[in-house]
Amino acid sequence: MAKRICVVEREKCHPTKCGDYLCKKLCPVNRTGKDCITVNEDDKKVRIDESLCTGCGICPKRCPFGALHIVNLPEALEKDPIHRYGENQFELFSLPTPVFGKVVGIVGRNAVGKSTAIKILAGVLKPNLGQVGGEADFKDLIDYFKGSEIQTFLEKVRDGEIRISYKPQQVDLIPKKFAGKVGDLLRGVNETGEMDKIVSELDLGNILDRKLREISGGELQRVAIAATVLKKANLYIFDEPTSYMDIKQRLKVSKFIRGLAKADTAVLVIEHDLIILDYMTDLVHIMYGREGVYGIVSGLKSTREGINTFLEGYLREENIRFRDHTIKFERVPTVDRGGSMVLCSWKDVEKRLDSFSLKAKGGEIFKNDVIGVLGENGIGKTSFVKILAGVLEADKGSVGYEVTVAYKPQYLEAESEATVLEVLQEAISKYNNQIIKPLNIPRLFMKKLNQLSGGELQRVAIAKTLAEEAGLFLLDEPSAYLDVEQRLLISKIIKQVAEEREVTVLVVDHDLLFLDYLSNKLMVFDGEPAISGEAKGPFKMEEGMNMFLKDLGITFRRDVNSNRPRANKVNSVKDREQKKEGKYYYS
Ligand code: SF4
Repeated sequence: MAKRICVVEREKCHPTKCGDYLCKKLCPVNRTGKDCITVNEDDKKVRIDESLCTGCGICPKRCPFGALHIVNLPEALEKDPIHRYGENQFELFSLPTPVFGKVVGIVGRNAVGKSTAIKILAGVLKPNLGQVGGEADFKDLIDYFKGSEIQTFLEKVRDGEIRISYKPQQVDLIPKKFAGKVGDLLRGVNETGEMDKIVSELDLGNILDRKLREISGGELQRVAIAATVLKKANLYIFDEPTSYMDIKQRLKVSKFIRGLAKADTAVLVIEHDLIILDYMTDLVHIMYGREGVYGIVSGLKSTREGINTFLEGYLREENIRFRDHTIKFERVPTVDRGGSMVLCSWKDVEKRLDSFSLKAKGGEIFKNDVIGVLGENGIGKTSFVKILAGVLEADKGSVGYEVTVAYKPQYLEAESEATVLEVLQEAISKYNNQIIKPLNIPRLFMKKLNQLSGGELQRVAIAKTLAEEAGLFLLDEPSAYLDVEQRLLISKIIKQVAEEREVTVLVVDHDLLFLDYLSNKLMVFDGEPAISGEAKGPFKMEEGMNMFLKDLGITFRRDVNSNRPRANKVNSVKDREQKKEGKYYYS
């Protein structure tokens, strides 16, 4: 019989507000006199006895707060979990496998245990093999993984042959723990004695004298990476090393991380940007399961096969479908679907913001265009979008509209005490099936805006903007804070909105796969960060991408099976051929 997991999200369980333990009253097992759903005496929330639950599905359906989850695990999963956080809480099955000489990537949605898995490998979290309150020792763990590659790895950890250095996901916590300057932090961890080399490779030279709390998110991320590799280790683990970075920095950091894998050194990386994951890793694990309930690590696959499988949503060997649809890239994504009607145009726009100056000589946005916007951080993309949205006024030049504009800013207002349900009332009444449900927003309805995580707030802001009655939608960094699965979903929804409602969309983002999937045209921003920027285009996709990639010195091909864009390894045969032909981007 398949194993069943019952999870109670404690912060969502409000037993006095649902009709005095509604689930207890409805549970058919309780009605026969057995104690399937009972009250936890410590916090008065419910607890579910997994050995008595029949999986009838009544309580998760009827709980008004969505606090209960009853899930039958795949048949193939016979083993106990490697870790369970507590009674009626998340379970993790299996671990990723570090491989010496290789960079192993981990891809999967949030809340399926990626960070838990690497915390266990890093020795930060002691697993309990499902025995809540217990702690497994090396012998138990080695027995659990007998016959697998992880067994060898754990034996080496036990024998002191493996030293691990780990970059956690939340780099924004670093300034809270260390108040000093960047240089002091790095000197303090410089076990390898290679600080000068690493500082130069990660472009940190001009911020060594700055305090950690004064630097940007992208800079903080690079400092955290430098601190991780300055420690002497032979397994380096990076949890989301490219968040807050623009594409130029992401590619640079990817190259740097690739370079760490040597015959005696292994690297593990969690990454949500599929182009970067593809570029940085040799092998991939897919992590799947149910958000907040359970997570499973797939077997190791080559990066190409792993990403294609991820897009397909189906694991052949395991015979498991983990998404109900396949993500398909069109053969010819550069089809000009733009009409002839100009919705918005600009001419000789100039704007000065302190010491930064922005220029946009001239351009037009046509009805039905979906325009991607690419460029480094600090180069005026957001200022330009604000000018189009009417939030910022140009100093010189003109902007003309024939259309109503809806705008999602880069930084989202989270101070409100209003609930998601209140904020999204109009969106729910109009687009419940098209936008609200697919984005999994109903489970956030009762939360206040100021209680939402970055990713939750992003989904709410996108839903609110896309539900507005407008002809031109301006979306500034919609993929920020979203996991890979949510990025794929959002790109699908934006595309559907554009096609079904025949509206025009302009999207600023750093995730190239996301923009490639969506856009038929591209704007490119050029210049020097924090000094000057120039808006160029919109161009046809191929022309814009060629210009952008040439500047980065990188070429892209298309995967023969999935048709997704893939970055060529620098100096590979394909890279050299394409550069010679001037074809940096293959449509
Ligand atoms: Fe009871 Fe399990 Fe049915 Fe919930 S799913 S009502 S706990 S038997």
